[in-house]
Amino acid sequence: MHTHPNPDATETATIQPHPDTHIWLQHIARQEAFVGTTQRGVILLGDISGYTGLITRTELTHAREIMQFIFEAIFESTGKQFLVNEIEGDAIFAYCVEPSDPALLLAETLKQVNDYGHAFYHARQAMVEGRMMKQQAAEEVCSCGACSNIGGLSFKFIIHYGEFGFTQVGPFVKLVGSSVIVAHRLLKNSVPGNSYVLLTNEALEHLPADTRSQFTPLLEKIEHFGDVAIGYRTLDLRAEDAQNHA
Ligand SMILES: [Zn+2]
Ligand SMILES: [Zn+2]
Repeated sequence: MHTHPNPDATETATIQPHPDTHIWLQHIARQEAFVGTTQRGVILLGDISGYTGLITRTELTHAREIMQFIFEAIFESTGKQFLVNEIEGDAIFAYCVEPSDPALLLAETLKQVNDYGHAFYHARQAMVEGRMMKQQAAEEVCSCGACSNIGGLSFKFIIHYGEFGFTQVGPFVKLVGSSVIVAHRLLKNSVPGNSYVLLTNEALEHLPADTRSQFTPLLEKIEHFGDVAIGYRTLDLRAEDAQNHA
């Protein structure tokens, strides 16, 4: 069980190697096989927000520990179809190279979004409850901006379907191409709220009509790319968790 960040530990906090590090190595090895090729598939960005404006050293250290806990839970819920390329700041960058049936790919993608949302929800709840338990035991509780706002963290997803190339830069396998750029640019968008699933039309096209109709259409202006047609659906993580356990 993860312990609540100790407010006195700001100097000594270190990232411990995770016991399941070999899973990372599998992800790296599978990606190296793609270097030099161009593939078609889904790009999936999962972005956690709610920690903008933290500035003190304690806040930044505790935010990092909280985010590490949450991202480990998210990473572990990555299905066999998906590969995690990187954790970029507050976002997980995963992708899936297309199997023979693009419709299957998008069904798997929505399942992956659900699994990531579920992992995020429970990791966030575990952190919040850890804090509440400390309060009940009358132990000192950290009241920094990061620790007191765990429950306010939100999760959004950007999903794009397209072509991407693979290059190797030192030890890193990088995805390159305009589809990768568009997906990242869409992290800034005009979708209302903080928790949602955003799909580009290229991705939406592969969904069955009844699933597609759950997404509200919108146009995003992206510099150098013009109007990008997307659809979004608001995520109510608490409600969707209740459905998962129904
Ligand atoms: Zn704190
Ligand atoms: Zn659940």
